[in-house]
Amino acid sequence: MLKVCKFGGTSMANADSLKKVKDIITADKSRKYIVVSAPGKRNKQDTKVTDTLYKCFDEVVSTGSCKESFKFIRERFIGIVEDLGLDFDVKSVLDKTESDIAEKKSKDFTASRGEYLSAIVTAEFLGAKFIDAEDIIRFDSQGKLNEEYTDDKVKTKLNGVEFAVIPGFYGKDSFGNIKTFSRGGSDITGSIIARGVKADLYENWTDVSGFLVCDPRIIPDSKAIDKLTYRELRELSYMGAQVLHSEAIFPVMKGKIPINIKNTFSPEDKGTMIVPTELSGDEPENVITGVAGKKGFTVIYIEKNLMNAEVGFIRKVLSVIEHHGLGVEHLPSGIDTLSVVLESEQLKNGLLNDIVNEIRESVNPDYIHVIENISLIATVGHGMARRRGTAAKIFTALAEEGINIKMIDQGSSELNIIIGVLNSDYEKCIKAIYNAFIK
Ligand code: ASP
Repeated sequence: MLKVCKFGGTSMANADSLKKVKDIITADKSRKYIVVSAPGKRNKQDTKVTDTLYKCFDEVVSTGSCKESFKFIRERFIGIVEDLGLDFDVKSVLDKTESDIAEKKSKDFTASRGEYLSAIVTAEFLGAKFIDAEDIIRFDSQGKLNEEYTDDKVKTKLNGVEFAVIPGFYGKDSFGNIKTFSRGGSDITGSIIARGVKADLYENWTDVSGFLVCDPRIIPDSKAIDKLTYRELRELSYMGAQVLHSEAIFPVMKGKIPINIKNTFSPEDKGTMIVPTELSGDEPENVITGVAGKKGFTVIYIEKNLMNAEVGFIRKVLSVIEHHGLGVEHLPSGIDTLSVVLESEQLKNGLLNDIVNEIRESVNPDYIHVIENISLIATVGHGMARRRGTAAKIFTALAEEGINIKMIDQGSSELNIIIGVLNSDYEKCIKAIYNAFIK
């Protein structure tokens, strides 16, 4: 058994949390490769190390040094090393880091130093080998992960290494400069390492005990999800379920490696197991696995008789949108109707009007109408495909609550039913669906 473990910012935040991390790792010898984030918040008012590092970069740009902002970074790491009672000269490492930041004047390099320092200290504390992510993770000239090179490096650098700590969040580009993933990207590093070493399990340790069926801000006592498939996870994280970086799934997906979301502060909890779709077992226990949603969409509704017979109709509508460099979120259609769902954020400064006028000119519809302030709510679960009446149950629940449905889109995979309602009905709609299936 071989496990790759990634620990997030709250697990790295102070000496107490690091001791919990050590207990978890020493309890299981198969936890051999440890990927770490930068120290996160110790309490609600606190600042994440990565956020302070972005400030350091701004200071370097305006003054040539980061003396002021770097003080906080020093305090955090010196505090951790002292509280752990480590005999390790962290001050020299911090001096060198501060001068490197001032010298390189690179935003990504600066941001990456949180994970770099965190991994050095953790390796020291655990008695593990420090292996720098810059020697493993490689991006190509377009800024995309160079998978082949990276996989190869993971294998060669970790070959024969029994126990190692690797910083998350960054790698090197093809010009030799440090480059970071997007925020929260240490999850991706963990996934890359898990695939490279062909781990049996990728454990992602965070500060919650896995995914919940619903956002706890809407359903405070929401049930937890024990098991999710890769595809269900994609649907839910697209809609904003935020426990894991939405791209972290791809590396392990190829290697069919399950991910277990675990809680450092409650390690006995089972957490959520994310498994390859085909390994998810026969009959899912529940009809639905999760409900998630997002506010802030606009629907352009188009009607034209015999639309289905008009060759190129949809292409012409989509060309207008493509011409403005926008992405389409959904495209529900009927025989003579088509709805284009777009993120409202991208339609500012008169762009929505321009698009509607251009669609009018391009396809001459009988009727075109814009619905703004729409929320999309996705009810997700493989269980839906095998059971009848799921859609009816959702619609009945919403009708009983007096919620007007503005749009319906069921993917052909029968994994997901997406409903559009007014933003003002968003919370009510999620509660109604949760209560219909879970309570
Ligand atoms: N430290 C980085 C961030 O705050 C990356 C991570 O924690 O995964 O976004």
